[in-house]
Amino acid sequence: MLRFAPSPTGDMHIGNLRVALFNYIMSKKRNEPLLIRIEDTDKERNIAGKEDEILAILALFGITYQEHQMQSNSLKFHRAMALQLLHDKKAFNCFCTPETLEASREGAKENKIAYRYDGACENLHAEQVIDNMNPFTIRIKKPDHSITVTDIIKGESTFAPNDIDSFIIMRADKYPTYNFACAVDDMLSDVSLIIRGEDHLSNTPKQIAIQQALGYDRKIEYAHLPIILGAEGKKMSKRDDASSVKWLLEEGFIPSAIINYLILMGNKTPKEIFTLDEAIEWFSLETISKSPAYFDIDKLRFINREHLKMMEPKELSRYVGFADEEIGNLTKLFIEEASTLKELREKISAIFAPKIVPPEYQEGFTQLQEAIKKAPYFDTYEAFKSYLIEQTGLKGKNLFKPLRILIGGSEHGPELADLYSYLKNYLGEINK
Ligand code: GLU
Repeated sequence: MLRFAPSPTGDMHIGNLRVALFNYIMSKKRNEPLLIRIEDTDKERNIAGKEDEILAILALFGITYQEHQMQSNSLKFHRAMALQLLHDKKAFNCFCTPETLEASREGAKENKIAYRYDGACENLHAEQVIDNMNPFTIRIKKPDHSITVTDIIKGESTFAPNDIDSFIIMRADKYPTYNFACAVDDMLSDVSLIIRGEDHLSNTPKQIAIQQALGYDRKIEYAHLPIILGAEGKKMSKRDDASSVKWLLEEGFIPSAIINYLILMGNKTPKEIFTLDEAIEWFSLETISKSPAYFDIDKLRFINREHLKMMEPKELSRYVGFADEEIGNLTKLFIEEASTLKELREKISAIFAPKIVPPEYQEGFTQLQEAIKKAPYFDTYEAFKSYLIEQTGLKGKNLFKPLRILIGGSEHGPELADLYSYLKNYLGEINK
């Protein structure tokens, strides 16, 4: 089983989508099911509606899955496992108040040492526990050995018991912490490979420690993906527009191109432009670079353009608001100068909108409009042009500039003959 475990706490970031995508690809390659686990145990951070948004994005990108769980439904298992650890003396109740813990965290900061739990509650007598009416958390005892994480991308990292620390697994509100819920669920779902962002690398030894304490001995494989940096070399935060999947879609980047780019970024691939199905054939986690990936929106634009070129004209036409192969072909004429659906939509709607004409061409424009109103049907641009010359007497710049505005929506753009070939059946609608 592979899993994608998003928290419903914000907009989907391209880093999350990349994790989902790689999990999907690896589940296909290994012929194992994919689980979507919505990690909703942190009630304060959950945002209503985000789960549906995540599932809608996965569907749009063709990321299908076999299982779907809400982590909060597994609370009974988290509590049962915590009880077992208490019973086995591998975990203990901790009555330290948030104030005491904060003070010792501050102390560590002042002394410039890493904060570690001081073990105050680790060896309380049963009476000290039973007599204490204060709220308590449950901490797992730090392991008595180092834990080595073997990562497909990053190689090996070893964590000493002190780095793992005696950390909290159940909060005072009786809800599990992320590390505990995640470790228990991965174990119960028999997860074989975990692919996630490298910000979780320091959580991994903690999760392994939990599973070891519970007597679980399956070796899970790991791949922690390097972070994605923005153009200025800074981590792409939620505030960077381009890091939001929703924003990219609104800007008119298409799913197949975004997928192509997320697989290409910081990776060695046999080709530059490909579909998801092709990538499933050759994808390997081993070729992903250890160093951060740089998000380059211009590269994404280039890839988007290539995918737009591959799109069936009829499909492309739907994206710009028509259902017609001719408009799809017309749209393709603009792909060199517009690389997103949004930009293409603007080009096409300018053709169908009332035109803005510079004063020097206004008179010619009106003459052309009158001539087109009375025009019979011409199959070729040459015949159409001869007719306009004959009717208006316009020539050179005085003919082509207003004509281009009239049928192309702008003073510059594709060849008039090409535009005409796809618009000859629409002259009535664009003549305004
Ligand atoms: N809910 C965590 C996140 O969204 C999951 C991390 C993981 O895959 O374990 O970052």
